Amino acid sequence: MSALIQASELNRSFSVHAGLMKPKQTLHAVNGVSLQLQRGDVLGIVGESGCGKSTLARMLLGLTPPTSGHISMAGQDIGTLSRKELARRVQPVFQDPYSSLNPRKTIASIVAFPLDVHGIGTKAERRAKAIDMLAKVGLPARHADSTPGQLSGGQRQRVAIARALVMKPEIVVCDEPTSALDVSVQAQILNLLMDLREEFGLTYVFISHNLAVVQHIATHVAVMYLGRVVEYAPTQTLFQQPRHPYTQALLASVLTPETGLGIPDMGLGLSFPDPLHPPNGCTFHPRCSQRLEICDQRRPELQVDCAGSPGEVACHLHRSTTSEERLSS
Ligand code: SF4
Repeated sequence: MSALIQASELNRSFSVHAGLMKPKQTLHAVNGVSLQLQRGDVLGIVGESGCGKSTLARMLLGLTPPTSGHISMAGQDIGTLSRKELARRVQPVFQDPYSSLNPRKTIASIVAFPLDVHGIGTKAERRAKAIDMLAKVGLPARHADSTPGQLSGGQRQRVAIARALVMKPEIVVCDEPTSALDVSVQAQILNLLMDLREEFGLTYVFISHNLAVVQHIATHVAVMYLGRVVEYAPTQTLFQQPRHPYTQALLASVLTPETGLGIPDMGLGLSFPDPLHPPNGCTFHPRCSQRLEICDQRRPELQVDCAGSPGEVACHLHRSTTSEERLSS
């Protein structure tokens, strides 16, 4: 059976201004990313701001075409799907419920909008479906004729989720869906997403900079650094046995008891490298306290680690011996 999503060797680069009077430069936002999702999976994609996770999300939504590589859905290349067909099967929930909802529209018309676009049902039927979906996300019908400005942040994110689900998509790409919300509301929205996954048989791609949030919801996690996946594993394995030094540092920062302390000192430092001039070899090597001599010379491939634990890691510390090396030893 083919995977629900199969992304192979995805690359996306942008031409960006490097400064006044300077020529444009190429930014490799996503670099050689391959991933696979089975129906019902929740893939968490984590990493610092600028690591390429939102560009990856936009490619999976069909909003940004890859520079190279391809994505298929249930065996069908998404490049062959019409914009409408893709929107019916994959829907987004974005970070900011304040800007993603039209402030002049009523809540019912916002949720019914995808049905309008696809010409589904009469106006009354679309409104009824919208109100039904609002109930499923925990918003009573009395909010149907309110505008977004009359709702709280958490309620607005519920509206965004209702709008994403009204077409009964197979995949929902959630890009930092809780990071603009108060901490007390974040857990409610995460629990709602988990309940809806169960009820509608959804598959999620869940983008976040926060590993604690991802631990709560994901079945698998991909950790990204400077456009590449550096570790991929089932959630439990990743949290119990983080292998990549970057994953270890991210986890340590999550576990810091006091907020505002930033990433604890693990030799990581606080500066994220300039994505226009990524370091040679392993791009994490300038921040890595465990680096080896080879690390600034050769980039480690994402591969099954030498201990055979589930998942894959891109780090020379965990490199399996290649067949070439075995022959020469
Ligand atoms: Fe650190 Fe080297 Fe592993 Fe990169 S490859 S994470 S520099 S040990």
